[in-house]
Amino acid sequence: MELQTLRRKMIALLNDREMDARGLSEELRIKEKEVYAHLVHVERSVLAAGGKFILVPSQCLLCGYVFEDRRRLTRPGRCPRCRRSKLQNPLFRIVPSSGGA
Ligand SMILES: [Zn+2]
Repeated sequence: MELQTLRRKMIALLNDREMDARGLSEELRIKEKEVYAHLVHVERSVLAAGGKFILVPSQCLLCGYVFEDRRRLTRPGRCPRCRRSKLQNPLFRIVPSSGGA
């Protein structure tokens, strides 16, 4: 699939809908690692176009710790509070530019 086509599809999938990297990799039939690489560019172009790129942070499924300060798109390795690694994937969503502002 062509690069721009792929990123456009990714933006369409995330349009007002939360998805994680696994969901995107299944929809687009690419590896999760590639999803993250493309997301960096998608975030940049969405912001440049006046839209919003929303990152719903990872959460520890064992103690409930939320990785609020984390800006990286990938899933963290382990929880700083309980030191375990049963973590929910971060979720992504795009709110397109409303045309105004
Ligand atoms: Zn934890």
